[in-house]
Amino acid sequence: MALDITLVCSICGMPTGGSLADHNPWVRDLRAVLYGDDWLQATISENLVLNASEQIHEFLLSGGHYISGSLIHNKCYEVLEFACHPTPINVQILNLFLQSFGLAIPNLVDSIFITSSVLNWGHGYAGLYQGSDTQFRRLKVSHNLSPTQIRTFVDSPCSDGEFESRIIRLSAEEPTNPRKSENTNKYIHTISDSREESCPVLETLPEELLEMILSLLPTEDVVHARIASRALALCHLSQNFWRSRFAVGAEFGYIPEPWLYKEKLIQDRRYADAQVVYRVAKSDRRSLSFFFNSRRRVWDLVQPLANALTSFSRHAETWGSVEPRGHRMASLWQPRLEKEDKMTWVYAHGDLHESREEPFHEGCRPLFKRSISLPSQPVAAIGVSMLPFHGTTYITGLRFFFDGGRVIPLGYILYGREIKLDIQERLHGFTAYTGDRGVHGLSVLTNDLASDVVGDIVGFTQTCLKSKKVTRAVKACFDGMKMVWLGVTDDVATMQVVASSVGTDGKVD
Ligand SMILES: [Zn+2]
Repeated sequence: MALDITLVCSICGMPTGGSLADHNPWVRDLRAVLYGDDWLQATISENLVLNASEQIHEFLLSGGHYISGSLIHNKCYEVLEFACHPTPINVQILNLFLQSFGLAIPNLVDSIFITSSVLNWGHGYAGLYQGSDTQFRRLKVSHNLSPTQIRTFVDSPCSDGEFESRIIRLSAEEPTNPRKSENTNKYIHTISDSREESCPVLETLPEELLEMILSLLPTEDVVHARIASRALALCHLSQNFWRSRFAVGAEFGYIPEPWLYKEKLIQDRRYADAQVVYRVAKSDRRSLSFFFNSRRRVWDLVQPLANALTSFSRHAETWGSVEPRGHRMASLWQPRLEKEDKMTWVYAHGDLHESREEPFHEGCRPLFKRSISLPSQPVAAIGVSMLPFHGTTYITGLRFFFDGGRVIPLGYILYGREIKLDIQERLHGFTAYTGDRGVHGLSVLTNDLASDVVGDIVGFTQTCLKSKKVTRAVKACFDGMKMVWLGVTDDVATMQVVASSVGTDGKVD
């Protein structure tokens, strides 16, 4: 098996080890998602500490066999764990994702970056790399990076201790120096007391409810609301309120530690008092800005990945396998399965890369091949599972619903990310919208109608996949994350009808 590995962190895009580690030790603390001859059986290493790329090569050659996989900074993996919480990271799913995107070959010029390949998710690692075209098929290190930007990239996304030290200092000062917050409260009380309650109904609400209302507001609106309303001004703000400043989408949503402490995922007591953490975060942004900027950059990169991992974990939990649903057929990566059918298909696909040996750089890989046969009755509805991912949407799977509760799934079924198209007619095919990386959008065709279009279609190739008669079988290829080939046929004469692919779960939530 060819060596196929990223030497650049697959999450933040920065090198792992190398000369950069001399001044930034966090870049040599790594986790490795690795697989050997069986590409479906990945393992994650314990924490590694590697100083130079030569040692990484030695590690990869351990046991005399090349190993493939990806390296991730420990700190970046930690941020990914934070973002996935409470769902644990499923390493098999993460491995499949990592195998679904090619390794870009960066043109490296900058002395702080070592020469190696970076995983091309379809983004430029928040300004670190530029794509030579709109699809970021090839990434190169952005020229014109300012010293401040470089500092953001080389700073650890998890605090080096300065943030926590300030929390300790402020906690120590707090009992003897509570004047500041008291003065602020007095100020708000004075203003509020001087006028009639602007919203009398607030006075009738219990304090817990008032706090809940304040928890949902951005901080500046909280200040305004407390100035405008006596009831809100007098409302005691508990830890629940201060933790809400760190909730997803809130002011400091990229610093979830106060929540994680409450949920007992981290034990660092310094995050126990969310009010103190908030005041530190707010008080001295300038000197902490590199940590904040680095954390925010990695957090934004990690969010779509964390959402995808959570959705796919549920697919795996429901079906007992990380693989896509449908009748399993042979692919280059699963050669022992049932061989190709003899039917004629009308199909559309991404830029398929069908070699196991060549390094994978562009397009997509048809790792899994799956098919389903359809009964002759009308299709009541089709559920289309869609994954938003870094500026685009990928179609990941389909569910065909029939009257009587029968459901036939194909691909990755993402509950909560499924749009259900009502059909109530016999299926004649699809209109597919494809790009290099796979199927981004589709609509369903009946004899004389087309359904609404779902997914992302702008800039993608539109192909009409219509079977001459009623569609009797659908076939699709998938990589570890999305549909990369879709075909329909009206011919079932040579196809085995397989009952195992039929599910009965008709629920969409
Ligand atoms: Zn990283």
